[in-house]
Amino acid sequence: MLNLTRLLTGISADGDSLRYSPHAAQTKHGVSSGRGPVVVWNVTRACNLNCLHCYSNATASGDADELSHEEALAFIDDLAAFHVPVLLFSGGEPLLREDLFTLIEYAAARGIRPVVSSNGTLITEETAHRLQRAGTGYVGISLDGSEVGNDRFRGAPGAYRGALAGIRHCLSAGQKVGLRFTLSRHTYEDLDSILRLIEEERIPRACFYHLVYTGRGQHLREEDITRQEARDAVLRLIKAVLDFQRRGVGTEILTVDNHADSILFYHYIKENHPETADTVLALLQNNGGNRSGVAFGCVDWHGHVYPDQFTRDRSLGTIRERPFSAIWTDPDEPLLASLRNRGSLLKGRCGECGWLNLCNGNFRARATAEGDFWSEDPSCYLTDEEIRPDNRLFAGVPRPC
Ligand code: SF4
Repeated sequence: MLNLTRLLTGISADGDSLRYSPHAAQTKHGVSSGRGPVVVWNVTRACNLNCLHCYSNATASGDADELSHEEALAFIDDLAAFHVPVLLFSGGEPLLREDLFTLIEYAAARGIRPVVSSNGTLITEETAHRLQRAGTGYVGISLDGSEVGNDRFRGAPGAYRGALAGIRHCLSAGQKVGLRFTLSRHTYEDLDSILRLIEEERIPRACFYHLVYTGRGQHLREEDITRQEARDAVLRLIKAVLDFQRRGVGTEILTVDNHADSILFYHYIKENHPETADTVLALLQNNGGNRSGVAFGCVDWHGHVYPDQFTRDRSLGTIRERPFSAIWTDPDEPLLASLRNRGSLLKGRCGECGWLNLCNGNFRARATAEGDFWSEDPSCYLTDEEIRPDNRLFAGVPRPC
């Protein structure tokens, strides 16, 4: 995640201490400053929508033999003892899991910050209050553009209205909420209208996701925006942050799932705000780019552990056989060992890149979709010149306003 608002305006938000602290990218066997990783937990495969790009390949009825309530509590106990700072309840649609509120409450009581990723359509007024009372730190709700475009992308009529109602219910319940927007061929034209909606609805946070080709989205390469469009989108979002700041709009804007954004952003700062360039560079280096298998992990509805939520073809084991903390800290686990020391393994442009300290090879799931696990990430929009190790002159980062 690249918090454009934090880095452009200096306003700090929840999660920034994890994202930009001096030890954010440094771990010993997956433990940083005594803390375990941020964990995404797909609590169920069941979902009431049918999104084109769903990385979980969710189904209407979910899977048989999903983790039981008792297994889920034991899992949270292990995460708490492992000092996991954040547990992201995802799915499928997490609200289809009947014991969700109990699990959120249980995690919060044990010092873990519970956050929820939802399609929003099931968040009634009462549900929003229940989330808030349970101690939910944040709810991210997916909404991808106009009503027609969103409902086509989400595979269900009424999804747009349901998501927007869910956001409004959270806002009125005092539940911190944000909007999640995925950039794709289906949604790109709606970028400006979504920014207007965010302002009109006074939504405090908006995350703009790049597409990752995995799960149901593994064949969506052709439906992704071009590299030039991805680059333009980031510059438009920088412009939006500055515009919001000038007009006193309090929304925080982040980009997610393409660490090339950090390098583009750094060079924008260097050209337009050189007085803050060193500070920004230090924060981005602290973050270190992609942290899959390092400071970020995932567990699915059956208890399988993965380096991140997109790398579903490489299970590290299951919490039904040994605790998450034991799997995560196993020095003999080959995939984790290689992800934690990946520099020499990366191939293609990522292997030659001069900005590994800010990007760390981006997403291996996208590399796998186009080549093999260690090949270059095909969504990198930086030119060969721009990723050169000795590059000091970065062209093509115009002032966006
Ligand atoms: S070439 Fe690879 S490591 Fe370098 S910025 Fe692009 S995606 Fe990141």
